[in-house]
Amino acid sequence: MKYISNNIHDRQIGEYHGIESGACIVIVAGLHGNEPTGINAIQEIFSTISENQIPIKGDIFAYRGNVSALKEGRRYLDKDLNRIWKKKLVDQVSTTKPNQTLAVEEKEQLELLSEIEKAISASRGDTWILDLHTSSAAGPPFILGGQGNHVTERVENILHVPVIIDTPGYFSGAMLNHYHRKGLVSFAFEAGQHNTKQSIEVNKEAIWRVLLGLGSTKIEFLPDSVNTENLLKKSKNGIPTKIELIYRHAVSKEDHFKMLPGFRNFDQVEQGQILGHDKRGEVQSPEKGMIFLPLYQEIGEDGFFIVRELRE
Ligand SMILES: [Zn+2]
Repeated sequence: MKYISNNIHDRQIGEYHGIESGACIVIVAGLHGNEPTGINAIQEIFSTISENQIPIKGDIFAYRGNVSALKEGRRYLDKDLNRIWKKKLVDQVSTTKPNQTLAVEEKEQLELLSEIEKAISASRGDTWILDLHTSSAAGPPFILGGQGNHVTERVENILHVPVIIDTPGYFSGAMLNHYHRKGLVSFAFEAGQHNTKQSIEVNKEAIWRVLLGLGSTKIEFLPDSVNTENLLKKSKNGIPTKIELIYRHAVSKEDHFKMLPGFRNFDQVEQGQILGHDKRGEVQSPEKGMIFLPLYQEIGEDGFFIVRELRE
């Protein structure tokens, strides 16, 4: 088995290449520069694999997302790197002329495109693109990016967390969609609140579960210190398995939107319930449902979303 590790400021976090062929797992962490816990989780997992000489089949590639913003601990510098992956934008950035100036995040995107393309072309099995995030609100982990029932059920069976299905396309600029278009299994995993020990642990459990679920390794090879049955299943706690997005409260800087404190992802809200304030006054929930991604950080264009159990 071959392991490649690079220094802290590089794009690449590390790679494992098993002797036997198997799934190709591509992990991106820190696509938002204020969300480094996925990187910590990958580094801890890679150390555990090395120290315990855990056999790995197939390939694992792990990359930092927004290297420039991670260095400053900011969500992004010029543009949100997880909102610029619509087909038109990817085509545009991929055909940039050498004399054209690019936003910081467009340069990051070009590098990621090229690295991930290399990883995909080296694949010797199932290819999964796993994009690790945290959010400004507390709450249980979940997946964004259902892509057809069959894939959604497989992902849910492996990870045991709710899957948010973005039928209205509110997140159509997210990276996961670019790889959906290529026919790969691709989703964002949200581990919990930014910069918490809990989010590192949740991310680790999710990565181990993917490695086990795709046959990259076996449970008997893992040391006792590794948890794979602890946090994810428990955290679901009555939240439906398949969830649809029904409303997005878009905000701009000029709105001076301020969310009321204390909302967690998936808290129940009533129609008409006051959720925040902006320069026009109270902001109410237009629907009964569950609150999703309430904005508790300085930047962002999504004030909150309302979600509910998917009605099929
Ligand atoms: Zn994020």
